[in-house]
Amino acid sequence: MTGKVYLVGSGPGGLGLMTFRAREVIDRADVIMYDQLPGEEILATLPATAELVDCGKFGSHHILEQDEIEAMMVGKARSGKCVVRLKGGDPFLFGRGGEEMETLLAAGVAVEVVPGITSAIAVPECVGIPVTHRKYASQVTILTGHEDPTKGESALNWAWLAKTTGTIVILMGVKNLAVIAGSLIEHGMAAATPVAVIERGLRPDQRVTVAGLDAIGRIAQERGVRAPAVIVIGDVVSLYKDTR
Ligand code: SAH
Repeated sequence: MTGKVYLVGSGPGGLGLMTFRAREVIDRADVIMYDQLPGEEILATLPATAELVDCGKFGSHHILEQDEIEAMMVGKARSGKCVVRLKGGDPFLFGRGGEEMETLLAAGVAVEVVPGITSAIAVPECVGIPVTHRKYASQVTILTGHEDPTKGESALNWAWLAKTTGTIVILMGVKNLAVIAGSLIEHGMAAATPVAVIERGLRPDQRVTVAGLDAIGRIAQERGVRAPAVIVIGDVVSLYKDTR
C-alpha cells in the first residue's frame, strides 16, 4: 500500500494567489506538513480532518530537521497516506523542494509537484516593480542571500553579480543585507543603484523600504527590517509605487 506526496506551492501569501490544484490536493490530504511561510490566511484554511504537522514547531518546540521531514514524508506515504508538503511560493525555488523530490523518488514514493506563484516575482510586482522591463532590465537573477559573501567560499560569484545589467532579486537576504550591499559596491556596482526591501509582501502588514545600495543596510537596520522579505536591486526599483 503506497500513498503519494504532493510538493505544493502555496503562492506568496493569501488565498487568492494559491492555485486551484493546490486547493484540491490540500482539501483531500490525509497529512499536511507545513511551515509558517504560507502565512496565516492559508494556514487557517487547512482541513481539520487532515493530520497537521507544523514542521517549524513540532511537538511544542522541536524544529523538524530536513532529514526528519523527509523521513516522515516517506513513512506516511508508505503507510498509504496522501501527504501534502506545503511550501511558500513555488516549491522548487529555494525551500528545498528539489531535494525532497529526489529523496521521495529514491525511496520509490510517487510524487506530484504543484507549482506556485513565487514571491521572487510576485512580491515586487505587487508594489509596482516589474523584475524585467524593456527600458530597465532584460534579465533577472534570483539568488539566496543566506550566505555571507565576506566569509569563506561562496557558491555565488559576487564580482559577476556586481556587473550584471539586469535586476537582482534576493530571497533570505535580510540578515546579510549590509554585507551583500557592501560586497556589490566593492566589486563595482554603482553606490546609487536603487534597492527595495519588501517585508511580508502581500500580507496586511506589508512594508517597503527603498534606498540606494550604499544606504540600504543602515536604513534597514534603523527601521528594524525583518524576514521574510524580498530584496530587489536595480533600475526597475524606480518604478516602485505605494498604491495602498
Ligand atoms: N519558495 C519560496 C521561497 C522560499 S525561501 C518562493 O518561491 O517564494 C524563503 C524566502 O522567500 C524568505 O526569506 C523571503 O525572502 C521570501 N518570501 C517568501 N514569501 C514572502 C513574502 N510574502 N514576503 C516577502 N518575502 C517572502
